[in-house]
Amino acid sequence: MLKREYLKEWDKEYFWHPFTQMKVYREEENLIVEKGEGVYVYDINGKKYLDGVASLWCNVHGHNHPKLNKALIEQVNKIAHFTTLGASNVPAIVFAKNLVDITPPRLTKVFYSEDGAEAMEIAIKIAYHYWHNKGEKKTKFVTLSEAYHGDTIGSVSVGGINIFHEKYRPLLFDVYKVPSPYLEAVKKVGREKALEYDTTKILIEEVEDFIFHNHQEIAAFVLEAGVQGAAGILPFPKGYLKEIRRICDEYNILMIVDEVATGFGRTGYMFACEKEGVEPDIMALGKGITGGYLPLAATVVTDDIFDAFLGEFGEAKHFYHGHTYTGNPLACSVAIANLELFEEEQTLKKLQPKIKLLEERLKEFWTLKHVGDVRQYGFMAGIELVKDKEKNEPFPYGERTGFKVARMMMEKGVWVRPLGDVMVIMPPLVISEKELEYLLDTMFESIKALEKV
Ligand SMILES: *Cc1c(COP(=O)(O)O)cnc(C)c1O
Repeated sequence: MLKREYLKEWDKEYFWHPFTQMKVYREEENLIVEKGEGVYVYDINGKKYLDGVASLWCNVHGHNHPKLNKALIEQVNKIAHFTTLGASNVPAIVFAKNLVDITPPRLTKVFYSEDGAEAMEIAIKIAYHYWHNKGEKKTKFVTLSEAYHGDTIGSVSVGGINIFHEKYRPLLFDVYKVPSPYLEAVKKVGREKALEYDTTKILIEEVEDFIFHNHQEIAAFVLEAGVQGAAGILPFPKGYLKEIRRICDEYNILMIVDEVATGFGRTGYMFACEKEGVEPDIMALGKGITGGYLPLAATVVTDDIFDAFLGEFGEAKHFYHGHTYTGNPLACSVAIANLELFEEEQTLKKLQPKIKLLEERLKEFWTLKHVGDVRQYGFMAGIELVKDKEKNEPFPYGERTGFKVARMMMEKGVWVRPLGDVMVIMPPLVISEKELEYLLDTMFESIKALEKV
């Protein structure tokens, strides 16, 4: 057994952490997790934390789940990996079939990768290449401001969060950007009404006008599925997704929907686009796909898209893309078990009252002095902290107010990772009502404690 002190030292000495200011990280005590059980994780000192953000929005049925463990162990005793470039393996085939069975009917072909960003990267390349194979010169993408689609160069190109993305501008391809629907709705009708009634008319007109003038060169419209997650949980006004589908149909543009955060039950539906009965042409999946166990992602497309890549070998129309671990059998076997658990445990049905409870309990947060907005989409919520509510004035970025609240929550045994000053609530779907109440109580008290400092 390694001495715990070495672990802390080596973590700071050798490990460059993602999305982390390492100078600050090295000055602090950090959570080093050793094991997990259900919705709890345990650090190397044995202290227990409720996992309030499902690891990173990916855990579904809890940590260390016997059925998922079993699927993994059984598969590793057969084979851990074999390439799928021109060959195949059993779990990857079965899971592709399972995915096609549960995704919207038009989506019939599965292309695997390992992370959400890759699933989006692949979506972009497929859309571009599709039009190329059809002999059309449609090479541009329309995206939303405040979008987040992952951190590889292509995914950053279609992203719109300035603090993450602007620095890389010289490396990125140009895209057309239309306003974030939530922020635009707030600007036009105010916070209270932004989501209440159908604001799409006033939002869509401008988008449609833009598309009308530029559609000849547009390959695809790229957007998250009903809520902009990393931007701070910004839900789309009702009907927005459906209107974008209509516009894409009307102007012969592919619709790429990023369900990486929303897929696998997070919104109360298996996929968020079901809520408005929208069927994209390309859907990107990740995060919850293996219940939070292993890196797996998928880009699911229609027959029409798949068929555009068919031809004789010499025509060189096929999709030149693949990774060493594409279709990894361990990840796919856990993904199969993950879907079985949704059935056996009636996960979505049991989730509905918890979504209602979250909605009820979130109302209290409006009463807090430093809460400027409270947003929910299914079983994800964001609570925006502000310095001055009346003036809608944020806390200075460098003060890390969200982080401070998260640290207070840690003392009470709850782990969350805020998005800047937006406190995020995104627990594993299997969390009990009692545990959810504890998470919310702890967050409420910790935000309230800001009033004293
Ligand atoms: C997390 C996320 C991604 C990126 O997924 P990774 O697995 O982190 O690469 C893409 N899109 C959305 C909407 C996400 O929330």
